[in-house]
Amino acid sequence: MIYLDNAATTKPFESVVRRMNVMLEDKFYNPSALYAPAFGVKKEVEAARDVICDALGGKGKLYFTACATESNSWVFASGIKNKKGNVVVSYGEHPSVFENARALIAKGIDVRFVGLNKDGSIDFDDFKQKVDENTALVSVIHCSNETGCINDIANLSAYLKSASPNAIFHSDGVQAFMKMPTNCADLGVDLYTISAHKIGGPKGIGGLWVRDGLNLAPFLIGGGQEQNLRSGTENTAGIVGFAQAVTEFEKTDKSKIAEYRLKFRTAFSGIPQVIINEGEQNSPYILSCSISGIKAEILQRLLAEKGVLIGLGSACASRSRKNRFLSAIGRSTSHIDGSVRISFSIQNLSDDMEHAQNEIITCIKKLLKS
Ligand code: PLP
Repeated sequence: MIYLDNAATTKPFESVVRRMNVMLEDKFYNPSALYAPAFGVKKEVEAARDVICDALGGKGKLYFTACATESNSWVFASGIKNKKGNVVVSYGEHPSVFENARALIAKGIDVRFVGLNKDGSIDFDDFKQKVDENTALVSVIHCSNETGCINDIANLSAYLKSASPNAIFHSDGVQAFMKMPTNCADLGVDLYTISAHKIGGPKGIGGLWVRDGLNLAPFLIGGGQEQNLRSGTENTAGIVGFAQAVTEFEKTDKSKIAEYRLKFRTAFSGIPQVIINEGEQNSPYILSCSISGIKAEILQRLLAEKGVLIGLGSACASRSRKNRFLSAIGRSTSHIDGSVRISFSIQNLSDDMEHAQNEIITCIKKLLKS
């Protein structure tokens, strides 16, 4: 199988699996226990936290969660708690932000949604209309999981702070972390969400970066782990695996990713029915195309039979027939029905790419003829 759905999840690096196995088989002790082997585990957890925190610029604190969905849910549970004021999010958010924001409406909170430009980036003029001196919380995705379009987080955050100095700026960095600069201090964010399984780490471990001086309300209450903010015995294997993925990612040459994307993009642009959905600034890891006249599910199935796995829009969005993001950037129903997401990983092999590309183009042409 040639796997090109890496924005949905990635295969863990071999070194990640090896380190996790050691944690599971030998170093299984509870890091809160008071005997020597447990101290060793505690040390590994803290060393992992440092590695990941360094990759986010070295300042602030990183709290481990079970996934990015949990991190985003924590932001909405805590970021507005006991606070008056409005909440601003974009139409380009992952459901774990968008649905949490929508849920606040039922609690009587004024939630405002910002539109997108045609290229999928957040509409800055609309953002300026929606944010005001009463804004308490803003959440804007750093890199879209749908198209890879990148938002100018530093600029948006600077505007928010000028309009509402005490407001909290959160960004979902799941598709951005390790794939573009994610120094949280430079981005000007207060909170930043990450997840291990998008970068060659395991599923079931995420993180929420919190800037120094910002006090979040606890999310899970119990034994007091994660400085009393997120109780629950630490996923020690997941945490160590997460840090190992960061280390592995850091040392790997990533230049081939942009080459892969460019080759696929060039091949697609020769087909008149294809629109490439991309931002002026776009992640090299994601290529989103809308093909009018075909059903993306059928293309996906045909390709799977030929050993090439691609995505349908985003994995979460693919379960529902509507696509909020592609609708917001003005794609027709026919284009939305034929939308696929091809996403690359540093584990993809150059030798496989030409074969996958030929299979995809051949299948599209076949379906367009039928
Ligand atoms: N945010 C974005 C942008 C994502 O792409 C995803 C996963 O697809 C998530 C959040 C949720 O991540 P997790 O699976 O770790 O909950």
